[in-house]
Amino acid sequence: MEFDFYCCSNCSYTTPYKGNLKAHVIIHSDVQPFVCNVCHKSFTQKIALQNHFRVHSGERPYKCDICGKTFAQSSVYYQHKRLI
Ligand SMILES: [Zn+2]
Ligand SMILES: [Zn+2]
Ligand SMILES: [Zn+2]
Repeated sequence: MEFDFYCCSNCSYTTPYKGNLKAHVIIHSDVQPFVCNVCHKSFTQKIALQNHFRVHSGERPYKCDICGKTFAQSSVYYQHKRLI
């Protein structure tokens, strides 16, 4: 069986899926296709934009099970958990 692999020309990344390569090569460019429509900050990854957007929406999905404090950003939440 022969497989077609798509190789990144900037690093050793290979993938059998063309779509994956398309998503991957973005990290090598300055293109940040995901733009916050509130503050116009741009992001390379959709998940980063979704994470960022909570600062505007006020959504705080991370809750400390010890003190009940809530957090919008997972990084801040994990930092808090480490301090306990
Ligand atoms: Zn690459
Ligand atoms: Zn924003
Ligand atoms: Zn806590």
